[in-house]
Amino acid sequence: MPKPKPKPTTTIVEVIALSGFDKALAYAVPPACQAMLQLGSLVRIPLRRRSELGVVTRLGTNQVVPPGKLKMLFEVVQPYPVLTPDLMELFRWAQQYYASTPEAILETMIPAAIRKGMKPKTRRYISKGKAPTTAELEALMTRAPKQAAILKFIRQQVKPLPRADILKAMKISASACDGLVAKGFLRETDTEEERIAYEDELGDQETVVTETRPELTDEQDAAVKAIHRAISADAFSVRLLHGVTGSGKTEVYLNAIEKIVAEGGGVIFLVPEVALAPQTVGRVRARLEARGVHTVVWHSHLSEGERYDAWKALASGEAHVVVGARSAVFAPVQNLKLMIVDEEHEPSYKQEESPRYNGRDVAVYRAHINKSVCVLGSATPSLESLYNVERGKYAVDRILNRVDHRQLPKIHLIDMRREALQGKGASPISRTLANKLVDRFEKKEQSILFLNRRGFSTSILCPDCGYVASCKHCSIPMTFHRTDGKLRCHLCGEQSEAPLKCPECKSINIRKKGLGTQKIEDIVQKILPRAKIVRMDADSMSKKNLYRKILNDFRIGKIDLLVGTQMIAKGLDFPNVTLVGLVDADKSLHVEDFRAAERTFQLIVQVSGRSGRGDRAGEVVIQTSTPHAPPIQFARKSDFDGFQLEELEQRREFNYPPFRHLIRHLFRGRNPDKVNFYIDQWLKVLEVEMDGKLEIRGPAPAPIEKIRDEYRFQLWYFAPSASRVISQLVALRQQFKMDKEVIDLIDVDPMNM
Ligand code: ADP
Ligand code: ZN
Ligand code: ZN
Repeated sequence: MPKPKPKPTTTIVEVIALSGFDKALAYAVPPACQAMLQLGSLVRIPLRRRSELGVVTRLGTNQVVPPGKLKMLFEVVQPYPVLTPDLMELFRWAQQYYASTPEAILETMIPAAIRKGMKPKTRRYISKGKAPTTAELEALMTRAPKQAAILKFIRQQVKPLPRADILKAMKISASACDGLVAKGFLRETDTEEERIAYEDELGDQETVVTETRPELTDEQDAAVKAIHRAISADAFSVRLLHGVTGSGKTEVYLNAIEKIVAEGGGVIFLVPEVALAPQTVGRVRARLEARGVHTVVWHSHLSEGERYDAWKALASGEAHVVVGARSAVFAPVQNLKLMIVDEEHEPSYKQEESPRYNGRDVAVYRAHINKSVCVLGSATPSLESLYNVERGKYAVDRILNRVDHRQLPKIHLIDMRREALQGKGASPISRTLANKLVDRFEKKEQSILFLNRRGFSTSILCPDCGYVASCKHCSIPMTFHRTDGKLRCHLCGEQSEAPLKCPECKSINIRKKGLGTQKIEDIVQKILPRAKIVRMDADSMSKKNLYRKILNDFRIGKIDLLVGTQMIAKGLDFPNVTLVGLVDADKSLHVEDFRAAERTFQLIVQVSGRSGRGDRAGEVVIQTSTPHAPPIQFARKSDFDGFQLEELEQRREFNYPPFRHLIRHLFRGRNPDKVNFYIDQWLKVLEVEMDGKLEIRGPAPAPIEKIRDEYRFQLWYFAPSASRVISQLVALRQQFKMDKEVIDLIDVDPMNM
């Protein structure tokens, strides 16, 4: 029998396959799929004798295809579109701008759970069906007493009950229940249930956020009004919310969100760190949930089920607000009207692996596509954003005072060179800081000690010959771990025993150098023998629950002093903290990165911001060997404008961002000569094709020259406008042949050198 051909009336759509996202192909839509199919739907299609996924990019088609020649698509994978037109546009832009493969961006935009065709979690309920006759009931009681028991019980209920719970409680088998259903005495219904991220692990310790609505300060009120006006204008705009630490920026965001959701709009709220998402989502929910506005959380640690539920809630329009880390910038929010990027200066918005996008910058572009408002908030805005304010691209709302006119903390600079001169060895904790720690402990107030993340690990070094224990495969010092006395490489995991004498000169003076949080913890414990001191480092950060437990214990006063790197300190708001110490302020200043000054300034202002957030005034101790360095001085005086002016001047002089876009082109391979050979060839191509119009620096070894036995060199391109240069580079790169032993990558607007 001949195969039935699709009727000429069959709807035709254009589909682009997720793998090799370039060419649109025409497919016929089987009648069963027509109701669910929309623009942007994820569909399963026959392609190259395989079954693949694709996205519907056009309903109908321009192509003239005889209907009989068309293949039928198999199914519509999700009932909601995965790429609405705005997301499609965002996809095309991000793919080009970040010189990414389409697949890498699509993987971020369409999470695995969605591709797998995951369905909502359902729970089965049972309720009474048709009434049994007396004879039927009697027959049951003799032949199947268990069935009779459950039937009797269910007939007394007014509401359906969860089937699994009932069976378990009454110790009745599933088949007994099925029998009753088959006879029509019981009815089963399935209800969708949401897997709610975080809630199930909150535990009873968690402080419940009870959100009261504070009266706005004048400055908050002005900022809220300005943002509301921008929202009413119904056009694209970016506003920088520059508010000092503790100025109540979150309250401003909440007011903006309220206006949007009251008008039926959607919101994306980005936070710089996964760990901050629950705290923020709690505040948003406390404010909005009562009004029936549903908020979901979104970040890379969600399980597939949680991810699916969040996705579905947004894509279906059931949830209007998403709070999340950088990948939430691609979330399928309907009728998107507001983007919020908190702590917009944070380097963590930049993804360090493919696709190398910056969540903040994608947020700005998405707001542009959606003709909506983007609010970038920070106490220490990036130079890029400040410059955009200066040249009129962004508007600015400033909050210069803390709420309740709480004082900004008093900042003491301790010159560690002088400390060292005054003998007593060189303790990493100055006497001033030690005395203040004791004072706070006696007053039952809390303190936090921060270590600069850069250079925070401990390495092994020989003072006699200069030997440093380095990794065999990577050009970095190995880190000494005291717990097991081993040296480890944090890049490749190589480990070895710590040497007792120098392998080079046999000196026994070999010793550990550098400050770890562990070491600081020990030193401080000696200063405060009775205090409860807890260390937060990368380990506690990776264990979600431990991190939350520590913060909660600190909040309720079970912990007197926290020791950690600034990395884990973002957004902490503890009213009883009246002392903050920054143990080594200089570390971030002495790195080879044009952002070193900016990072140091931000670090000091941000860690200072953790002090004195309650009723008592706060103090900050900054330990440094370069107390006169401009970023340290400007930060001490909270002189934002002074810092900005001086720093912009420097950047302008050397053509650094924000005056140019930087593009890093990294080449790596096991044979350094080969890597350099290809760089030379590539430079010749650029010389001809770019005609000297692109400023190029390098090649130079990457800051970490060797990782896992691969040598790394890089070129820097300084581009006045990024997008044109990038498309030229990508086009040239596609024609340029390297061999398999050399791999390169292009990183646009990198956040680290
Ligand atoms: P920021 O993010 O600017 O550092 P937060 O938004 O965390 O500051 O606010 C700091 C604290 O002040 C929070 O505990 C917040 O609840 C409180 N707060 C914010 N606005 C007000 C206000 N208008 N009146 C009283 N308290 C406020
Ligand atoms: Zn030696
Ligand atoms: Zn290594």
